[in-house]
Amino acid sequence: MDRNTPITALKGVGEKTEKLYEKLDIRTIGDLLCAYPADYDSFGAPVKIGQAGCGEICAVHAAVSGIPNERYVRKLHILNVTVWDGTDSLLLTFFNMPFLKKALKRGSFYIFRGLISSHGTQKQMEQPRIFSLEDYSKMTDRLLPRYSLTRGLTNQAVQKCVRQALSFYVFEPECYGEEMLREYALMGRREALETIHFPTDYDSLIQARKRLVFDEFFSFLFFMRKNKEASDRLPNGHRMLETADTARFLEQLPFPLTDAQRKVWEEIRTDLAGPFCMNRLVQGDVGSGKTIVALLALLMTAANGYQGAMMAPTEVLAMQHFETVQEYIRKYGLVFRPVLLVGSMTAKEKREAYAEIADGRANLIVGTHALIQEKAVYQSLALVVTDEQHRFGVRQRETLARKGEEPHILVMSATPIPRTLAIILYGDLHISVIDQLPAHRLPIKNCVVNTSYRPKAYQFIAREVAAGRQVYVICPQVDAGQEDAEGGAAMENVVDYAEKLKNTLPPSVQVAYLHGKMRPGDKKRIMEEFAAQAIDVLVSTTVIEVGINVPNATVMMVENAERFGLAQLHQLRGRVGRGVHQSYCIFVSGNEKKETMERLEILNKSNDGFLIASEDLKLRGPGELFGIRQSGAFAFRMGDIYSDAPVLKQASRAVDKLLKEDPELERPENAALRQFLSGAARDVDFRSI
Ligand code: ADP
Ligand code: MG
Repeated sequence: MDRNTPITALKGVGEKTEKLYEKLDIRTIGDLLCAYPADYDSFGAPVKIGQAGCGEICAVHAAVSGIPNERYVRKLHILNVTVWDGTDSLLLTFFNMPFLKKALKRGSFYIFRGLISSHGTQKQMEQPRIFSLEDYSKMTDRLLPRYSLTRGLTNQAVQKCVRQALSFYVFEPECYGEEMLREYALMGRREALETIHFPTDYDSLIQARKRLVFDEFFSFLFFMRKNKEASDRLPNGHRMLETADTARFLEQLPFPLTDAQRKVWEEIRTDLAGPFCMNRLVQGDVGSGKTIVALLALLMTAANGYQGAMMAPTEVLAMQHFETVQEYIRKYGLVFRPVLLVGSMTAKEKREAYAEIADGRANLIVGTHALIQEKAVYQSLALVVTDEQHRFGVRQRETLARKGEEPHILVMSATPIPRTLAIILYGDLHISVIDQLPAHRLPIKNCVVNTSYRPKAYQFIAREVAAGRQVYVICPQVDAGQEDAEGGAAMENVVDYAEKLKNTLPPSVQVAYLHGKMRPGDKKRIMEEFAAQAIDVLVSTTVIEVGINVPNATVMMVENAERFGLAQLHQLRGRVGRGVHQSYCIFVSGNEKKETMERLEILNKSNDGFLIASEDLKLRGPGELFGIRQSGAFAFRMGDIYSDAPVLKQASRAVDKLLKEDPELERPENAALRQFLSGAARDVDFRSI
């Protein structure tokens, strides 16, 4: 069994299970082993009920103290029983498990493990798992993996598959030499893969994670540096002259550029007219107004008779950019002849777009990854813009660039990263920073609340909608798929939440939902309706995190805010506060832990994306590296550019050394590394969102 062996080679994985795994993008044994656990359960020693805190998953050792009580609610069988451990009582509830009634005899002792909640002063546990003291003691102090699941696939089933895969897997030889393993204190890759799934203890888990993160960064940086070599200091094959178009456009705009925008635009147009091909990164926090700067560059390109392309990571964002351009053309009569190219267009629409791109009728091409498909052939591509670059693979940007003859490259990112990291991640792109928000923006008002605040929040939402404003509600999950094996704290999901809101808000309020798994056509329709204000409240996953600009939206409510990294919450918050109206952000925490509240409170104190990300790190121990990701920035499977910055720097050093000593990986001692990187190439390329 190796990484390319189909998952069906595992015992117990038939056609049906194969389909389920496919939903999780797992097709081969390699995919399965790289689907690292989302989190781990530690079966800690039982606690006293009196000390068990609400919102925590814990185990208690208690005796059944009451007589089980059963009832039906419609078809649902509900069994209640009280247990007692000398400090307090706990009310247990089981659904559809009538057979337990016999086992839960009064006076019998068990370990009950589950999430503690409370009803008034009565502590409760729903659907706990039950163990004998003996069984439980065998499990304590082990860390068990919790995988991302889909409905129909249980955590136990995935665990079994992974165990099987690990025992039959023929591991590739270690790809780094002894010296390198020692220098960077790296665990062997085989051990790391085994440990990440089934850690023996916490310390080795941290080591395993470090190794795998190192590998991700190493392969990413290797390919990026290789690419960079090819594009260093190219002469400018598309020298552009400044025409009156951009200046006129700027005069007509209803707002002046901020000083920061003006400075960056100056840098860009100097590049376009200068002796070398442009390679520039524009960094600017959400809402700083990057789009207009990109449009100016595209306008200069079109005015010089060339084609420019702008690639966005999601269809929703690409379509929004296209709309913006069309509106500007209508208002200001720009020289753009734009086409849209996205995957969900019909074959006929695509053919027409390709034709216009190929014969040069179109001079501005806006789209998604569709822009880099083979069929897209450009007549005179001179400028390539990638918006929200951190969502792409570097390879994708390169592929687009190869569609022209050394076109200028403009990369836009809202990921706040310090310069030292930006230089590592983006190689030698020149960096421009828009470090200022447009004037006259009212600061967003934030609040961090628990779920009991919801009724008030809904009233507030209803008022804002009545005043003509619009609202986003973010939930972490798409639908009520498989729950965690442990029945962890329930996460809100978009589909059910939208239904709930429809029933709660006044009937005149139009509620709809949006998530990444919807058909592209449906996503498009929903976004258009939201932009046109036919929808008042949009319940969405984080698909709207990047780029979306609906200035009339003034309320952002985030459910299970504790599940998100602060940097990501900051990006989400950036969807409001984009217009003239006062905007509000309501972060609803699904638990009431003090630390969670404190973490979320950071968002109240600052509007500086980078500061927020670094404060977040300070507050979190290494244990929290699992579970929450700092942000969606850079599509690494596990590595996080903020929390793993030291590892990123190490990997960068190691890549530099390799490229100096054996750039083509020809030495025999690098044979295993060569093989590893050729496998990773696929990953670096396509894993990006
Ligand atoms: P981001 O940097 O997050 O991509 P956008 O480019 O989407 O931000 O801009 C956010 C909003 O700010 C848009 O509605 C845009 O029209 C507006 N905007 C951009 N520049 C200015 C400015 N100088 N003054 C006022 N509003 C601006
Ligand atoms: Mg943007």
